[in-house]
Amino acid sequence: MSQTSVHANLDELRRTAMTRISEAASLAGLAEIETTYLGRKGQLTQLLRSVGELPAEDRPTFGRLVNEARVDLEQALAARREELAESEANHRLRAEALDVTLPGRFYTIGRPHPLSATMDEIKRIFIGLGYDIVDSPEIEHYHYNFESLNYPEEHPAMDEQMSFYITDELLLRTQTTAVQARIMEKQKPPLKICTMGRCYRSDAVDATHSHTFHQVDCFAVDKNITFADLKGTLYQFAKEMFGSETRVRFRPDYFPFVEPGAEVAISCVICGGQGCGVCKSTGWLELGGAGLIHPNVFRQVGIDPEEYSGFAFGLGIDRMPMMKHRIDDLRLFLENDIRFLRQI
Ligand SMILES: [Zn+2]
Repeated sequence: MSQTSVHANLDELRRTAMTRISEAASLAGLAEIETTYLGRKGQLTQLLRSVGELPAEDRPTFGRLVNEARVDLEQALAARREELAESEANHRLRAEALDVTLPGRFYTIGRPHPLSATMDEIKRIFIGLGYDIVDSPEIEHYHYNFESLNYPEEHPAMDEQMSFYITDELLLRTQTTAVQARIMEKQKPPLKICTMGRCYRSDAVDATHSHTFHQVDCFAVDKNITFADLKGTLYQFAKEMFGSETRVRFRPDYFPFVEPGAEVAISCVICGGQGCGVCKSTGWLELGGAGLIHPNVFRQVGIDPEEYSGFAFGLGIDRMPMMKHRIDDLRLFLENDIRFLRQI
């Protein structure tokens, strides 16, 4: 190879390399260019090896020129690497930039279902009155749901048409009162027990009836418990639950498991007793039933009705938030429409 062509090759290679370095678009591309020219098998390295083909006197000059070219390329590579690194960092920063003026994400905070909130409030009141809160099964024995509660053989509530039977012996409880014998056959008086939860009856669903509803049942057993204790307890409950102006009305009623029995109503929470649409102009809202525990209920669980007496009452829970929030359709509680639940 002649000296001229070797020199021409070197110039050409250097020019091309410089152009490619200046045009490199990424750090990875730049690394590739570096290998192409300066790597162990790179083009400049190869050119240096061809120095042996030159006449001896030209070799030092050529060697110096190649080394100069190497230094130039290395400097150009370093400069370009710096530029690219900076621009890649800038690019990443831009991509990851936080716009602090964007509005934050709003998290929806849950709240208790109106029925749960009501049950929590009921629980709070009866715990304050010294009651034990107990759970009781929703699938109940015929015995506890009816038999132990002194229902006569032919009572219509026991009919298959009125209740959801699972087997001949098991049904979905029709009332939380079913808890009474369960507790009384295991624990001895004095007793102050409260339970609440779902009950089921084979009712057609409309604005005020449902196959699934909620009750709270309380009973107290001790020596010398009278109807006055029952009234005092319900007065206290009504005042705490519906406000201190609330009045309570008792009217004679019949339930197999109490004697005497009474229907419990409170003065209308909307009109205060004047009469309005909610109370259908009567001024009163029915809450449930109450009475003194029937001696037959005591006898079945081995408690002597001559020695002990007790009262019991069961109240519908669904109506309480309905009255409080003027909700006119019971079905809304079970539909879980978020628009409804948010309002309360
Ligand atoms: Zn009213």
